[in-house]
Amino acid sequence: MLSTLRTQVLVVGSGAAGLNAAIAAARNGAETLLVEYQGFLGGISSTLPWLGFHDQQYRQIIKGLPLEIATRLQQAGAAADFELDPKCGSAFSLDNHYFKCLAMEMVKEAGVNLMMHTQVVDTLREGDRITGVVVEHKSGRQVILADIIIDCSGDGDVAARGGAAWEKGRTGDGLVQAPTLVFRLGGIDREGFIRGCKDPNIMYREWLKPYPELWDKMMKRIDDMNVIVCGGFAGLVEQARQAGDHDVPQSRVVGVKLHRADQFQVVMTRILGLDPTNVESLTDAYTAVYEQIPQLIRFFQRWMPGCENAYLVDIAPMLGIRESRRIMGDYVLTAEDVTSGAEFEDGVALGGYHIDIHRPSGTWVESKNVKTYDIPYRSLVARDVEGLMMAGKCLSATHEGVASTRVIPICMAQGQAVGTAAAMAIKQGITPREVRASDLRNTLIDQGAELRQSLEKPDPALIELVGQLPEEEPPTTGDHDEVSQAATAWIR
Ligand SMILES: Cc1cc2nc3c(=O)[nH]c(=O)nc-3n(C[C@H](O)[C@H](O)[C@H](O)COP(=O)(O)OP(=O)(O)OC[C@H]3O[C@@H](n4cnc5c(N)ncnc54)[C@H](O)[C@@H]3O)c2cc1C
Repeated sequence: MLSTLRTQVLVVGSGAAGLNAAIAAARNGAETLLVEYQGFLGGISSTLPWLGFHDQQYRQIIKGLPLEIATRLQQAGAAADFELDPKCGSAFSLDNHYFKCLAMEMVKEAGVNLMMHTQVVDTLREGDRITGVVVEHKSGRQVILADIIIDCSGDGDVAARGGAAWEKGRTGDGLVQAPTLVFRLGGIDREGFIRGCKDPNIMYREWLKPYPELWDKMMKRIDDMNVIVCGGFAGLVEQARQAGDHDVPQSRVVGVKLHRADQFQVVMTRILGLDPTNVESLTDAYTAVYEQIPQLIRFFQRWMPGCENAYLVDIAPMLGIRESRRIMGDYVLTAEDVTSGAEFEDGVALGGYHIDIHRPSGTWVESKNVKTYDIPYRSLVARDVEGLMMAGKCLSATHEGVASTRVIPICMAQGQAVGTAAAMAIKQGITPREVRASDLRNTLIDQGAELRQSLEKPDPALIELVGQLPEEEPPTTGDHDEVSQAATAWIR
């Protein structure tokens, strides 16, 4: 007989979405338990800079709890100012290990109960209601019963094991975005690195290339920028490949020059054809990415400006999986919604980050600009079952839709919305589906969140300063990549 624990709200997974969901649920009065498989809080958000607090018109669209976290990091001297950016809206560079400490502090402050190093291995269901989960940890197996479960596992583990509807990957072949094990380099010469970024012949940021005015604006700011987002240097990568110094299925330097002067976050290891819910596929992926890292370090030392003395500082503790199971909800957010700036009566979070698909097969990314859109409450409530909600990578969206909502601040905002909704449902003795979206929206705004009705007009001075990519910027689509002769060899 397994021991049984009861809670009102159970949050599975403490990444950007789950962390915010748990804090919001507890702050709003629900007895909340957060279960996390790893030995730290924050999931993959504790290994990366955060992109997309601002929309493409430089309005801060993510406020509330995520902004509180960012501000507390800044106050502790553990993060820089937001850096406005024409592709990403904004970039926020932080000391990721410090974020783990703050996350723990905030969870405790809010009164969230915690269970670490604990994995959900099964889901309990009675009729159409998800009633609990089975977990496994060092003490053995245990049952956790909950009135409401919020699946923020990133893999939709609760939904899948409970027979709720989910989808994975792109329509047609089911392939998910290419995953990456990120690592951090130290020993970078900031000035030398920036000199390289200024050299238009090696083009550190491909998106800017067709727009000389935008390039000039960026060059005026770059010496003083806290965070420099890179996506380019294709010529250097190809030269290195031909010289035998680079054999990773990655045709660009992807990564971020961080606010710490000598540090660069490398987002370049890459696996094609991963199934994130298959242990053999995951094991193969881990084997391959650890082989890629030494190669990439040598590439930086030999080929990248300012990186001659680069050395490995740390490797993220988990493979970064950009996409896995998406749980199907009462609404499925689509590419059309995000590119057209859809407004929904039940919008409970905003998004404004471009569609950013690290090609599941082939190199580089597919990208398409968006207009600031609402994320509807219905895409946070699992369909055809009661008692199950979700946020973050598990959001009810298509492969393309989640490619925009997946960045950290937007996952955090969804987390705040879903946690607040769960607490409201508990308080009112109703199911999540019965929560009135208008009440939820008012509560979220009272608690500092930014929604459509509180959003201000764009500031023309900021747009003039930073510049903008044209809305009709041609999307990059398809798997073909002309910059590398090897591109097709990597395609599976
Ligand atoms: C390589 C990479 C680079 C990226 N770069 C950026 C970037 O620079 N900026 C940005 O804003 N966004 C970036 N993103 C996107 C963003 O980081 C993620 O989409 C977002 O953090 C996902 O948050 P999440 O909470 O949904 O999932 P996760 O962070 O994956 O959290 C899921 C949590 O659930 C836990 N878990 C999983 N299964 C179980 C289980 N069965 N039982 C218990 N716990 C479980 C996991 O341990 C984890 O802590 C990147 C993503 C990747 C993969």
